[in-house]
Amino acid sequence: MERTPPDSIPTAAPAVGSNEQAREREVVVKAVNLHKSFGDLEVLKGINLEVHFSDVVSVLGSSGSGKSTLLRCINYLERPTAGEIYISGVPMGFRLDSQGQRHSASQRTINHMRQNIGFVFQQFNVWPHMTVLENIMEAPVHVKGMTRAGARELALRMLERVNLLDKQDAYPARLSGGQTQRVAIARALAMEPKVMLFDEPTSALDPELIGEVLATMERLAEEGTTMIIVTHEIEFAHEASDRIIFLHDGRIEEEGPPEQVIDNPRSERCQQFFSRLKHRR
Ligand code: ADP
Ligand code: MG
Repeated sequence: MERTPPDSIPTAAPAVGSNEQAREREVVVKAVNLHKSFGDLEVLKGINLEVHFSDVVSVLGSSGSGKSTLLRCINYLERPTAGEIYISGVPMGFRLDSQGQRHSASQRTINHMRQNIGFVFQQFNVWPHMTVLENIMEAPVHVKGMTRAGARELALRMLERVNLLDKQDAYPARLSGGQTQRVAIARALAMEPKVMLFDEPTSALDPELIGEVLATMERLAEEGTTMIIVTHEIEFAHEASDRIIFLHDGRIEEEGPPEQVIDNPRSERCQQFFSRLKHRR
């Protein structure tokens, strides 16, 4: 896989020296005893999770194990039934008063916090009536209030990161699925979020287009982008992740570096899951 060296991307190059180390220890996403039920169905049964600055964490698990619900709770698309989410230490969806009582956050505060979280879905999230460049400029202009000139310059930098500068004036209908998903990634990056969440970003793609999207995500990982990725692409997860979380029935069944969780899983369930995935190829 050919890649541009990370030092050619000034926006994403992490700071150097002790400053960088301090940032790397920053906990960007924290989930504390997170529960989520839909009616009688308990989908998340107490998830504890810490994702540090520039960590790449892949979440794997069978269909229905709660992976999407976990991502959706992190940016409050789903409201947790119990437990807490913190984004860089700030509670998501609630605030504590001086007596320590919990109150729901306003929709405005939630929307504001969501700007810190980029979300890339299985289904490509782009506007068909806007060019690629306009798609990426849209939120920086309308949500962040950037000037069009500033947003344009930012959008071009993001297009460079997903290797699509040559498509800036194209409409999405003219793009392949892989290119469209890379535009969706650039759109999310343009808000300069603290963390990028990916929910099976390659599951809707034709097999021959999966590689280009995974290559883009690997590049982001190498640049130090903090990411939580739900994927079934086991080789990519092994290659790109600092940590694997194996979710089963709403609980973290196993967690650790890829060499441990994918290559030497402890639990029988995890062993079965990975041997099935490996034999599919
Ligand atoms: P995964 O992404 O791991 O496949 P999901 O988080 O999408 O799993 O779903 C976990 C379980 O929660 C499934 O049984 C699913 O049917 C259920 N579920 C998800 N969203 C809802 C919802 N909005 N209402 C009711 N049940 C839901
Ligand atoms: Mg899902």
